[in-house]
Amino acid sequence: MALSVKLNTGANIPIVGLGTWKLWCTFHDRAMVKAVCQKTLSDLQLDYLDMYLIHWPMGFKAGNELMPVDSQGLTVSDGTSFLDTWEGMEELIDLGLVRAIGISNFNRQQMEELLNKPGLKHKPATNQIECHPYLTQEKLIDYCHSQGISVTAYSPLGSPDRPWAQASEPSLLEDPRIQAIADKHRKTPAQVLIRFHIQRNLIVIPKSVTPQRIQENFQVFDFELSEGDMQTLLGLDRGWRCCPFPSSAKHKDYPFNTEF
Ligand code: NDP
Repeated sequence: MALSVKLNTGANIPIVGLGTWKLWCTFHDRAMVKAVCQKTLSDLQLDYLDMYLIHWPMGFKAGNELMPVDSQGLTVSDGTSFLDTWEGMEELIDLGLVRAIGISNFNRQQMEELLNKPGLKHKPATNQIECHPYLTQEKLIDYCHSQGISVTAYSPLGSPDRPWAQASEPSLLEDPRIQAIADKHRKTPAQVLIRFHIQRNLIVIPKSVTPQRIQENFQVFDFELSEGDMQTLLGLDRGWRCCPFPSSAKHKDYPFNTEF
C-alpha cells in the first residue's frame, strides 16, 4: 500500500521521504551537486535516494570548512543563487539518482522565487521547516499546502539536546499546558507534540536514540486531540526558534528576516 499525506486543501500526495538526505550549504555550486550526491550514494552503498533536500537556501564558500566564517564569525557566502542549485537538484531526478527533491528552511518569498523560476522542471516535494507549538508556522504551512507542497516539521519536540541551548529558553517538554493535555489523554508531552503535527497534516520527524522513546513516539495513532486542545497548542506560538542560525543572519539568502 502506498503511503500518502493529506494536505490542508484535502489533496493527498505520496510520502516519498522515508529516506531523506540533504545538500549542505558549501555544495551549492551548480557544478558540484551531482558529485556530492554521488559521494553520498557511494558512502551509503545505495543506487538512489528517496528524497534529497537543499538544507538551507544559503550557499557558503566551498572548501574544507563546512561552516566557513569571517573574522566576525559570520558565515561566508559563495554568491550562488538557490535557483541555480535547484537545476542541479533537478538533474539528479533526471539521472535517476534521487526519487524526489525538496527544500528546507525556505521562506515564502524564496519558495515563490523558486516556483516562478523560468523553465522549472520539478517542483519541491516538501519544505522541511522548524515547527512546534512555540513556532506554529501557520502562514507558511498554508502557503506550502496551497502549492501542493508538503511540510515536514523538524525539531518537533523543541530539540532539547541542541548544543547551543540556553537555560533561559522555553522547554516544550516541560510546559505545564502541554503536560495538562498529555495527562488528560494519558499520554506523554512528546506524544501530544507529535500528534499535534499529525492532526495538522504535517510530516513529523522527532529524533531519538533511545529505544523506549522511539517506541513511545510511535504510539500516537490511538488518541485524538480535541479542537480545544489544538487551539490551546496553536495559542502557545511565540515565534521562538531552536534553530535560528544567527551566524548567517547577514547572508543574502538568510530565510528568517521576513515574517514567514
Ligand atoms: P527533536 O525536537 O526531535 O528533539 C530531539 C530530542 O528529544 C533528543 O534529545 C531526544 O532524546 C529527545 N526525545 C525524543 N523523544 C522523546 C520522548 N519521547 N520523550 C522525551 N524526550 C524525547 O529535535 P531535533 O532537532 O533532533 O529534530 C528532529 C529531526 O529534525 C532531526 O533528526 C533532524 O534530521 C531534523 N532537523 C532538521 C533541520 C533542518 O535544518 N532541516 C534542523 C534540525 C533538525 P534522545 O535522542 O536522547 O532519546
